[in-house]
Amino acid sequence: MNCDNFKSMIQEFHDEELEKGKEKFLFLHIANCLNCSSTFILMSRLKKTIKHDFIEMPSRLEDNIFKEIKKLRSNKNNGIISFRKTEVFAYALCVLMIFISIFLYKTSTDYKEKIERISEEVNNQKIRIEILMNSLPTIEITSTRIDTKVN
Ligand SMILES: [Zn+2]
Repeated sequence: MNCDNFKSMIQEFHDEELEKGKEKFLFLHIANCLNCSSTFILMSRLKKTIKHDFIEMPSRLEDNIFKEIKKLRSNKNNGIISFRKTEVFAYALCVLMIFISIFLYKTSTDYKEKIERISEEVNNQKIRIEILMNSLPTIEITSTRIDTKVN
């Protein structure tokens, strides 16, 4: 038997599948083989660690998993609610903006009409003033002597 055979026996021993009769044979080899004894120690440590973690983990792991699931569910619900709230708010804002722009457009067109009317009036007045100016007779300025002698 070579070391490879003993290594598979070490594996079987740790899996609790090694026949009782072979255990003595295995330990006898381990006592004399540095390579196989280090493999045995390594396997023992590994099994111990796995066993320890396997016992320790489930309770904590389970709690954490449930906590995360709860958190995710509540976040999802909150997310949907807040998303809907934001959506409604955005729609309301859009409608408000449309009304404001319609109002502003109407007021600006009103102002435009007013300005057009005023400028038309100003033009008419200008024409009237020109007509008036043209119809006035020309004025001649002459000097007259005024005697201010007192007798
Ligand atoms: Zn060996």
